Amino acid sequence: MKKLVHELIPPGICNLLNPANIYSNNEVKLEDIEIYGFDYDYTLAQYSNLLHTMIFNTAREILVNQYKYPEGIKNYEYQPNFAIRGLHYDVKKGFLMKIDAFHYVQLGTVYRGFSPVPDEEVFQMYEGTQHVPLHRMSDFYGKGPSMKQFMDIFSLPEMTLLSWVNDYFNTHNIEYDPVHLFRDVSDAVTSVHVKGMMYNWIEKDLEKYILHGDETYAVLNRLINNGKKLFLITNSPFNFVDKGMKHMVGKDWRDLFDLVIVQADKPGFFTDKRKPFRRLDATGMLQWDKINTLEKGKMYKQGNLFDFLRLTGWGGSKVLYFGDHLYSDLADLMLRHGWRTGAIVPELEAEISIINTEQFTHGLTWLQVLTGLLERLQVYRDAESKQVLNEWIKERHELMSLTKNLFNPQFGSIFRTYHNPTYFSRRLCRFSDIYMSSISCLLNYDTTYTFYPRRTPLQHEAPLWMDQLCTGCMKTPFLEEMVHMR
Ligand SMILES: [Mg+2]
Repeated sequence: MKKLVHELIPPGICNLLNPANIYSNNEVKLEDIEIYGFDYDYTLAQYSNLLHTMIFNTAREILVNQYKYPEGIKNYEYQPNFAIRGLHYDVKKGFLMKIDAFHYVQLGTVYRGFSPVPDEEVFQMYEGTQHVPLHRMSDFYGKGPSMKQFMDIFSLPEMTLLSWVNDYFNTHNIEYDPVHLFRDVSDAVTSVHVKGMMYNWIEKDLEKYILHGDETYAVLNRLINNGKKLFLITNSPFNFVDKGMKHMVGKDWRDLFDLVIVQADKPGFFTDKRKPFRRLDATGMLQWDKINTLEKGKMYKQGNLFDFLRLTGWGGSKVLYFGDHLYSDLADLMLRHGWRTGAIVPELEAEISIINTEQFTHGLTWLQVLTGLLERLQVYRDAESKQVLNEWIKERHELMSLTKNLFNPQFGSIFRTYHNPTYFSRRLCRFSDIYMSSISCLLNYDTTYTFYPRRTPLQHEAPLWMDQLCTGCMKTPFLEEMVHMR
């Protein structure tokens, strides 16, 4: 059997994927893009994972000191590899889980605290099914009546803290309301941002927290040298962005940008017409004058996209905007305003390196072969064949777990459940024209490059896997022989 897998992957045929590539969902001609827009956090500035530990520790202290949660919670440390982005949290049940594009919970990825929830209990909780109905799902921006989707990169420490506190209460048999816990952890993490603690840590040690600064400088300069206009729309405050950009790009960073908008309050910025722009002076102080023009070299706070479009004329597909948050940065632009969008997905780098391993390639190929054999040979109903089929079903499940666990032992890949796209993945395809692990991937492409998405076959367009095998390296008599060889 194993020999068969090796025969299916002749040496040299598998081109390794490159994490420095840009991937396209939709055709984009960079030649047509005149204006490049950027989000700041996790788009222009990538942060080290140390930031997550700091957010976790501080929110944990707030929970104990201000919200009077048990002291024992202080013994729990941050687990960097526990959660992945895009997970859903059932607020009432206190379950963290991965959901696919069809609203089905991926079995084996449901956690109460740090303990996996048995499949039978998952079925029981969701009315005998793995399906989460639309009215209980998260809404357009990831929030819902009983489900919340964690889409922010900053939410990794939040998910871990939630899981630890759930774990503490469960293992100590303390009765608690998961709804209160969710709200308190969410408020504790939010106050780390709102009170400016996170900004202070980063500002005090930019070298330690900000990654790839040189590459950000190179990307922006290259665009300017090719006659492109640049703008920045961020939710972060001026002083914070100013310090980070001076660190990455230099003290004259603002000369590169036609417009800089801080504390924009995205996603409201894209939908709420009521908030006018305010000007900031050179020191970051708010001015009270009415804004009738948006001028290069000046700084603005808040505002809204409708005024932005009216005052700049930068509408439609000549604008490409990059952001890391699929909902807050990209969804409205794609669905309502017709700008082209680029998603920054840092997880791509690690996931592609796993896809490139021999262990994953062989595991996945063998999984495909077994699935194809099962599809074709399920028609054999004699006892001997059924026994073989059952063994293959068991082996298939083992392979599914093995290939999932290579990405993350709890939740697997952010892009796939066992074979479906995840809820995250479907949003990524819907809201981004192109996606990449880092803005620095742009350095690998000329500014006249066209991204052509690969034409992947729809189900009715694809030849059946087994038909390919039958007409290719295997013959039907061999398959039959395999079933009856025992
Ligand atoms: Mg961001």
